Amino acid sequence: MSCDFLALAQPGVQKLSPYVPGKPVEELARELGLDPADIVKLASNENPLGPSPLAIQAIQSALPELTRYPDGNGFTLKQALAERFDVSPAMITLGNGSNDILELITRAFVGPQHEVVFSEHAFAVYPIVTQAVGARAVVVPARNWGHDLEAMAEAITPATRLVFIANPNNPTGTWIGRGELEAFLERVPEEVIVVLDEAYTEYVEDSDMPNGLDYLSGRPNLLVSRTFSKAYGLAALRVGYAMSNPAIADAMNRVRQPFNVNSLALAAAVATLGDVNYLAESRLTNRQGMLQLEEGLQLMGLSWILSRGNFVAVDLGREAAPVFQALLREGVIVRPVANYGMPNHLRVTIGLKRENQRFLEALTKVLASD
Ligand SMILES: *Cc1c(COP(=O)(O)O)cnc(C)c1O
Repeated sequence: MSCDFLALAQPGVQKLSPYVPGKPVEELARELGLDPADIVKLASNENPLGPSPLAIQAIQSALPELTRYPDGNGFTLKQALAERFDVSPAMITLGNGSNDILELITRAFVGPQHEVVFSEHAFAVYPIVTQAVGARAVVVPARNWGHDLEAMAEAITPATRLVFIANPNNPTGTWIGRGELEAFLERVPEEVIVVLDEAYTEYVEDSDMPNGLDYLSGRPNLLVSRTFSKAYGLAALRVGYAMSNPAIADAMNRVRQPFNVNSLALAAAVATLGDVNYLAESRLTNRQGMLQLEEGLQLMGLSWILSRGNFVAVDLGREAAPVFQALLREGVIVRPVANYGMPNHLRVTIGLKRENQRFLEALTKVLASD
């Protein structure tokens, strides 16, 4: 009889369920025998514009150096980020996607004796990184689908080492205002690290929305995590970054892989950061697409959770899984979120105008046919 290796895995790992990504276009094309060009994917909060032309140029220029290891310290990208955000390079940690950042901060600071606090309906990676290090996940019930920061502050115990907050949150799109965040930060003990995950912050245009960077100087226990995967359109390359006090960055630097961000990703990230037009166009596309989807959903009599991200969670008022499946047959990939405790919702990424239109038409057809 062969050995039961899963029984040998770390206890936290045994209880884990793997992250479920959005269905790839190629996979659905294979399954349905469709042309990939006829499939619309609005499932992973990707930027529908395609990458910045400057990113493509930068990658082409970097190609002849593929035999070399990347700059393990990411000097140029850190310089560019430091300038853009007025922080010192010593405060910056680069990650292979911000997913890497979430993992690094957890591995560097959290052990089996610790608790990690996060919200119900929050990003799926928080429970994964928590359980992977054997720590206890303390999941605080949501309020109106969003983070209940008061309850989260109350959930902090002497065993708490880390709190994850996503602002805006994925998959709900809910957001936390400045006053609420400040009141929360006031209540957090200094030895509890607050990870403020701002993966969608570039899309936010409200004046009441806090910018995590504004709180870094007074709060050595704050880490702000960001990514090039969403508004900057580089999801395939995997580049994220954290800004924190240098001591936290130092600890994360000790556990990271020596070359965790590859050279094409570094080059493309620097180029995209300098492309202000691209970011402006991403925002505009998102704003217009959000309106288009909201109008369409309203006409269908559906409700949704107000969102500040590049996606919206639509309430179907019934089990969403069969609707998700039927949409696939129409060549439209969205994201079921039952694994986030939201079995009646589908999360839809804001796409280009014609993609949003395809989704609305497919949803209308699917809902009418049963
Ligand atoms: C998409 C997302 C991320 C990061 O993704 P990366 O591609 O790993 O940078 C992080 N947090 C939230 C809440 C997200 O939705």
